[in-house]
Amino acid sequence: MQSYYQATRNFEIDQPALKGDHEVDVCIIGGGYTGLSSALYLANEGVNVLLIESNKIASGASGANGGQVSGGMRRDQFYLEKALGFDKAKALWGIGEESKYHAKGLIDKYQIKCDYKKGIAHPNHKQKYCEESKQYVDHMINKYDYKDMVYLNDNQMREVTGSDSYYGGSFDEGEAHCHPLNYALGIAKASLSAGAKIFENTAAIGYKVHDSCVRVETQKGSIKADRLILACNGYLGNLEKRLTSKILPMNNYIVATEPLGDEMARKINPRDIAFADSRFVINYFRLSADKRLLFGGGENYSKDLSNNIVPIVTKPLEKIYPFLKGIKIDYAWGGKLAITMNRLPFFTSLYNDKVISAQGYSGQGVALASYSGKIVSEKITGDGKTFDIMSSIPRKSFPGGRFLRNPSMKIGMLYYSLLDRI
Ligand SMILES: Cc1cc2nc3c(=O)[nH]c(=O)nc-3n(C[C@H](O)[C@H](O)[C@H](O)COP(=O)(O)OP(=O)(O)OC[C@H]3O[C@@H](n4cnc5c(N)ncnc54)[C@H](O)[C@@H]3O)c2cc1C
Repeated sequence: MQSYYQATRNFEIDQPALKGDHEVDVCIIGGGYTGLSSALYLANEGVNVLLIESNKIASGASGANGGQVSGGMRRDQFYLEKALGFDKAKALWGIGEESKYHAKGLIDKYQIKCDYKKGIAHPNHKQKYCEESKQYVDHMINKYDYKDMVYLNDNQMREVTGSDSYYGGSFDEGEAHCHPLNYALGIAKASLSAGAKIFENTAAIGYKVHDSCVRVETQKGSIKADRLILACNGYLGNLEKRLTSKILPMNNYIVATEPLGDEMARKINPRDIAFADSRFVINYFRLSADKRLLFGGGENYSKDLSNNIVPIVTKPLEKIYPFLKGIKIDYAWGGKLAITMNRLPFFTSLYNDKVISAQGYSGQGVALASYSGKIVSEKITGDGKTFDIMSSIPRKSFPGGRFLRNPSMKIGMLYYSLLDRI
């Protein structure tokens, strides 16, 4: 089944597959937000840049996600301050803020039509989390001078979610939501206009690093480049074995209901905002432009995406909205994201800076991955200061390393998802 986003995309990026031997300044592997925005920034700097994507542009997570343009990192400031100290936590918050402004900036500058709307609420599924949410809102105002976040009490949250299954939680008007595929396609179009070369249906089979260059091999050709950017995230596979033990691909799923009509849409989401709840396996949902409920939830770690997505996602959907039980599901799809052990992004450079990688956004990449293109390109053409902050985030390998990380994580994740239900 195609996704709702594919069915409502503004246009296709129709680029050929790569044939023959090419020579450029920078080669990028991966055509999601990370790769596309790297291509855009480098091309705008006059760098000769070439991007290859194994399928269609944004066929990975960037064209399939929940569209939530979130602030900060995947872990909140309480966690970051404890783990990394206040100064580092504040620097990461600043990068998260820049990422949000940057996404809106791209949308405005390149006139990307992607249904951008303000506001994400974070409802708690357990009352005991509410006190911490209140403290978090106060903390963000007092320590970060962040004024876009407010606390909604139980009644207010039930009103905005149209669901009795939630307690209070925070609402952040600085965050936003959008049509993620149209956002990615807009960046791709801007990159092409800036002079980047894009090849679709072209997988990198492998690459070799030499003293003066990197050579990337594909089925029908090769690319010789001074630098290589790896922008493969959850689809990296074994392309770079030095990175695989630090990230774990995870499948996540979304459904789109039939259009709900004005009355029901108003009932379940009167402010037309997005939601991301407090569960370990997060439920996230919002309305589409044509007033369908886009509901994401459910995950697994199998190599291939499930071919039976509807029951996985409608189970949590019907728990939150029992009155939508049996609603017709018009679209169901999934994508692969990459998580890290501490759920913080994993930026690194390898082989004396010849190969640069940005990945592991841990489910929060709409704003951050598209900003990372700027961060990565500054590492190549500028001082790379923001890259240095990102790459200094401590990272750990998953237990079991490259080969056994999957089974050991499955057990851990199962444990936490069970806690969601207690
Ligand atoms: C279902 C789902 C919901 C999500 N919801 C949200 C959300 O609401 N908000 C949010 O902020 N984040 C969300 N995320 C995460 C977000 O989508 C990602 O963090 C982000 O898209 C990562 O972008 P990327 O460019 O790094 O990776 P991707 O978009 O996954 O792109 C990687 C690309 O690399 C290509 N590739 C891999 N290997 C090769 C190769 N050898 N040769 C050529 N090409 C290759 C792949 O085909 C793929 O297109 C979600 C993710 C999923 C899956």
